[in-house]
Amino acid sequence: MTATVAAFLQTIDGAQVAAADGGVLDSVDPSTGAGWATVPRGGSADVDRAVAAADRARASWRDLGAAGRARHLRRVADVFAGHGDELSEIETRDNGRILADTRGLDLPSCVEMWHYFAGAADKLHGDTVDIGPEAFTFTRREPVGVVGVVLPWNAPLSLFTAKVAAALAGGNTVVVKPAEQASCSVLRAAALISEAQALPPGVLNVVAGLGAEVGEALVRHPGVGRITFTGSTATARTISTAAAPTLTPLAFELGGKSPNIVFADADLDAAAVGVSTMSLFTGNAGQTCIAGSRILVHESIVDDLLARVEKIASGVRLGDPMDPATTMGPIVSAGQLERVRSYLALGLGADGGAELVFGGRSGADLFPAGSAHAGGYYVEPTLFRGTNDLRIAREEIFGPVGVVLTFRDDDEALALANDSPYGLACGVWTTDLTRAHRCIRGVEAGAVWVNTYRKNHWALPFGGVKDSGYGRDSGMESVLEGTVLKSAWIDLP
Ligand code: NAD
Repeated sequence: MTATVAAFLQTIDGAQVAAADGGVLDSVDPSTGAGWATVPRGGSADVDRAVAAADRARASWRDLGAAGRARHLRRVADVFAGHGDELSEIETRDNGRILADTRGLDLPSCVEMWHYFAGAADKLHGDTVDIGPEAFTFTRREPVGVVGVVLPWNAPLSLFTAKVAAALAGGNTVVVKPAEQASCSVLRAAALISEAQALPPGVLNVVAGLGAEVGEALVRHPGVGRITFTGSTATARTISTAAAPTLTPLAFELGGKSPNIVFADADLDAAAVGVSTMSLFTGNAGQTCIAGSRILVHESIVDDLLARVEKIASGVRLGDPMDPATTMGPIVSAGQLERVRSYLALGLGADGGAELVFGGRSGADLFPAGSAHAGGYYVEPTLFRGTNDLRIAREEIFGPVGVVLTFRDDDEALALANDSPYGLACGVWTTDLTRAHRCIRGVEAGAVWVNTYRKNHWALPFGGVKDSGYGRDSGMESVLEGTVLKSAWIDLP
């Protein structure tokens, strides 16, 4: 490894600690391919210590009461507000998402989310249930206990905040496992929270390391009362099996192959932005679970729309994600770059039946040897035309690569939209309100956007159906999912 400039530590029981066995992993800057930091390579001993600390902190955190917990969450909001520049720079260096997004969008949203969930803490209540004069019966909402949080690499701090703040508001304590490709911003955030004493020791613990080691130990741990996971559908299946013996409740936010449907009556200029820079050729290079990677277009406007999309795509600027002039960053890792390239190869020939509209280049084709990003993991905006049976139309690519499919009428558009194993999100571009409502009702997805795309808000529940998972982040639902309902019966003889 070359030029390590930073070493991040885990947070367990309020202390900054290395892995129990001293193991470390390199964290790579995807814009250069060079290691820039080290993170602990935790293991089951670290998970045991973290779960024990979270368990010890449980009763006092719960008994602090809603207002007390809310005060702490607001202190965390202040930590995020006070260190927004540092945290966003770390995240951008670590996962390649452009600084304009991490600093301009993600960190301000994180601050709002901590405040939102602070406000949610005292909105939890049970009900009285009147079954007659012979008894007083009611329900109580109680925390599940220790919540295990497993994160992906594409938006670490946003997902950390959504999941951790909701769990803490509900009275739980947490053990977080960030993704090995991009742990640094989460490790640093936990350290800052600890330094500021924004949370009592043990309430928030972060153990870094590999999925098959730390992740597996966390989801199998009998002391964990719930797992909330964002990542791939394949890993979710592994976790389901691992958590079966303990019957641990699970929430899964998984992959997608989301349709972005452009009807003939759409505002084509707006739709062209909506299917390109708004959804796919984005600051994190299409590495978002809600990428609108299947672009469904009415056959009468497809040539017109694609001409506009190509013009927008030609203006996308790849480069250093720290540079304000860059509009699309690199792919997160060498492994993920290879995965995206394998789909480019499928589209360019091996899959048969696909036609390249534009793009298709990656790596040294874009940044030749000797240039600043020669070692970086770059893919240019790429569109194929094809049919819905192709692998590039059915499988999640997780890069700036889309496939255009055409339809003749509304029924065919909806049938195509739903002909996918996934059901995370859907975009609809139309000026016809009735058609928009038909799509909202008819599409199998956790979120539908009309005349916009990729808009999330902490107050709106977010999650999927089908292979995109179950359970919701954000909104009051995410707090409620972290609680159990207890029924009480007082006899009134
Ligand atoms: P991944 O499933 O490989 O990894 C996600 C996390 O799970 C990482 O922290 C990893 O270390 C951990 N993990 C891996 N194996 C594990 C195991 N056996 N037990 C416990 N934990 C384990 O996913 P990835 O490829 O790194 O991330 C990209 C995926 O995440 C994409 O499929 C994307 O669609 C999905 N994603 C979904 C959402 C959403 O909200 N729906 C958001 C972002 C990303």
